[in-house]
Amino acid sequence: MNFFWSKKTPDVLYTVIVCKSCSERQTRAFADGDVVLAEAKCTKCAGSARIEMIYSAPPMQQ
Ligand SMILES: [Zn+2]
Repeated sequence: MNFFWSKKTPDVLYTVIVCKSCSERQTRAFADGDVVLAEAKCTKCAGSARIEMIYSAPPMQQ
């Protein structure tokens, strides 16, 4: 008997961050406290970035 028979893998929340300095666009797993338009930090140039959107989708494969 398959324990997971009744459910597909649940969707996961992702956060899209856009950097104001270098226009880098990043998608990462949603973290507690993420809010659309909240300030974030660009991991590419360490500049000021902003959360553009939060969405749910099936977990990334691979
Ligand atoms: Zn940047």
